[in-house]
Amino acid sequence: MTRIVIAGGGMSGLSLAAHLAVADHRHPVVVVDDGTRPLGNMTWASWSSRPGLLDAAASRWFDKIRVHVNGRTTVLGLGRYRYRVVRGGDLAAVVHRYTDPLKHFTFQRGHVDGVADGGLVVDGHFMRARWVFDSVIGTDEEPPLDAQLVFRGWRVSSERAVFDAEIPTLFDFRTPQVSGASFVYVLPEDAHHALVEHTAFVAPGMPHDETTQREALTEYLMEVAGVGEHEIDREEHAVLPLRAAQPSRSHEHVLTIGTQGGLLKASTGFAYQRVQRDSAAIAESMRRHGHPFDLQEAPPRFRLFDGVLLDVVTREPAQLERAFGALFRHRTAEPALRFLDEETTVPQELRLFAGMPAATYLAAARHRLAR
Ligand SMILES: Cc1cc2nc3c(=O)[nH]c(=O)nc-3n(C[C@H](O)[C@H](O)[C@H](O)COP(=O)(O)OP(=O)(O)OC[C@H]3O[C@@H](n4cnc5c(N)ncnc54)[C@H](O)[C@@H]3O)c2cc1C
Repeated sequence: MTRIVIAGGGMSGLSLAAHLAVADHRHPVVVVDDGTRPLGNMTWASWSSRPGLLDAAASRWFDKIRVHVNGRTTVLGLGRYRYRVVRGGDLAAVVHRYTDPLKHFTFQRGHVDGVADGGLVVDGHFMRARWVFDSVIGTDEEPPLDAQLVFRGWRVSSERAVFDAEIPTLFDFRTPQVSGASFVYVLPEDAHHALVEHTAFVAPGMPHDETTQREALTEYLMEVAGVGEHEIDREEHAVLPLRAAQPSRSHEHVLTIGTQGGLLKASTGFAYQRVQRDSAAIAESMRRHGHPFDLQEAPPRFRLFDGVLLDVVTREPAQLERAFGALFRHRTAEPALRFLDEETTVPQELRLFAGMPAATYLAAARHRLAR
């Protein structure tokens, strides 16, 4: 039996299905999803510097971002990057363009109960599989939790034309730093509509207070964005567990993907672009070797940087603004984005870190390495 089963047809499961459809036709592929997270509710934003298989799914592309940090608003070009927005329904439609012509690709509604020797269990029944790509069960031993990313976003309809339709705000620190290191993110649709999202890095085990986060959003809308009469059409809220260490991804016939595979970047909460790269690498490994394990990992120092940043900002929230200010102080956002994509060299990193308090970060790094 050469069947591949992808457990979970969300962002990572769909992305992998498309990449497999293009790269490797030897195996029948079944994508199993129980529908607990409807794709229609999801939107992913991300930056990228090179073309990707699923680019046609993007509904918006931006060449600039705005940041407000250390009392100053700056508009930054993105250099060789572009920032784009992908809606869940559009991702599914583009993926199906690749998979629908292939008879051996099927999508099945079902709940994955667990993985088992030689396959997995779906709705209580064993399903044999040569390879299982798992975005829903994960491994037994999760790395330690370093922080939680607590975000609450409102899709706002404003009577006044207050949003800049062409420039998203990646972070704006004009929000109280009371419930963890916090900033507001604004993703515009047009001058009257935007997703306005409050994001806080909260220490593990610390409570997160809904009321405070809603008050912070209201304050931002009225006092910073200058929104007068408005409606909130939709709210999204999530608490993402942030783990800097890499979980072990592979076990016999199983490889974890997506958030379960540690693809969520611990210092940003972004996963979309990393999943695209991972999907391409898995499909290429399958094509070349007949197994999915020939995957390159970024140098381990990047996970150390993520962990150290989370240690510092969960202890001293004001440091997040300083860190982002230092990373995004260049003429374009490209150096910071390249660093967040884990594609910088050590000398480039030393230049980026120059504006940060060295003693604070070195002490946190020493502490982490000694654990
Ligand atoms: C609200 C929100 C907004 C986000 N925004 C961004 C963003 O803008 N940019 C970015 O880069 N990242 C973002 N992320 C982080 C990350 O990219 C997403 O969480 C992403 O969807 C993770 O992909 P995934 O495939 O691991 O999980 P999912 O996309 O959640 O896919 C899991 C799938 O498995 C199904 N499922 C769950 N359990 C079972 C089961 N037992 N059996 C069968 N099916 C099951 C679900 O229905 C779902 O379709 C966001 C996360 C959240 C929660």
